[in-house]
Amino acid sequence: MYRDHTKVVHIGDRVIGGGNPVLIQSMTNTHTEDVAATVAQIHRLEQAGCEIIRCTVPTEEAAKAISEIKKQIHIPLVADIHFDYKMAIAAMENGADKIRINPGNIGSIDRVKAVVEVAKERNIPIRVGVNSGSLEKDLVEKYHGVTAEGIVESALDKVHIIEDLGYDNLVISIKSSDVLMCVAAHEKLVKETNYPLHVGITESGTIMSGNIKSSIGLGILLHEGIGDTIRVSLTGDPVEEVKSAKLILRTLGLRKGGIEVVSCPTCGRTNIDLIGLANAVEQMVADIPLDLKVAVMGCVVNGPGEAKEADIGIAGGKGEGLLIKKGEVIRKVPEEQLLNTLREELLNWGNA
Ligand code: SF4
Repeated sequence: MYRDHTKVVHIGDRVIGGGNPVLIQSMTNTHTEDVAATVAQIHRLEQAGCEIIRCTVPTEEAAKAISEIKKQIHIPLVADIHFDYKMAIAAMENGADKIRINPGNIGSIDRVKAVVEVAKERNIPIRVGVNSGSLEKDLVEKYHGVTAEGIVESALDKVHIIEDLGYDNLVISIKSSDVLMCVAAHEKLVKETNYPLHVGITESGTIMSGNIKSSIGLGILLHEGIGDTIRVSLTGDPVEEVKSAKLILRTLGLRKGGIEVVSCPTCGRTNIDLIGLANAVEQMVADIPLDLKVAVMGCVVNGPGEAKEADIGIAGGKGEGLLIKKGEVIRKVPEEQLLNTLREELLNWGNA
């Protein structure tokens, strides 16, 4: 499996590559210069399960803010640099644990060299990121459009520039909003390199379309053993990105832990507000540190049977519901107490 043989890269106190667990990343959408707002958002993300955070560094002030932000957070911070090589250097001097650059946007080789020299001195990894949207003109012409081949060639060109400067503490990311092109590009890239890969579908859209595109793209790649760290990009609260990333990893068997909520799709037999109840259960279990399956079913006729594979469940009836454990009905519970009863059972799990 590709992921087992990638180079190990340390990002602050975290490690990616070499078969280590796939880590979840997200990116703040606050102004990095606003330390209080950025720290508050990172704390929410940490609590949701974010393991590496990226912040944009467009200004000198943002670079300076990094050292203050770093004092107040508990996960490694990646500085996202667009065009100004001086920001990359300032971010590293202010404690960034990794920088993300596209050497093609940084300018002359001297500028790239200046960035690489600082990274080398401090042993800070560089994520070399290329995006289908900014593919060089000559590669677009060579491959008659934006193609997986072009994206891979562009990424490897950038990697070779940095390698030629004597540095290989690198992570690569190649992104496209075209899911199948993104998958094809990664499948080609892994034949040519063993650097760890940051994988994500870029500009994938709002919560609904972003989740579907990311689940398909990341699902295929991760299942093929490709991807050492992931970001689900969503137009929305970044906490949603982390929740989705966790669910993707858990669904693929790449993460253990946490409560999985399964619920039935409802049908004509449903007599309670199961949609509301299932959503409430999902929220309620988010901070309970158990590794369990919880079923939320819509009727007392089929619910208990269908919930057999769950550790615990509730099934709604008319005005009352059932508490179920491993498919066995434990007792009847008034409808309005179902949620609380389930919560109490979970909080006392293992003490019974
Ligand atoms: S568990 Fe009951 S309510 Fe839910 S889909 Fe099955 S039959 Fe319908």
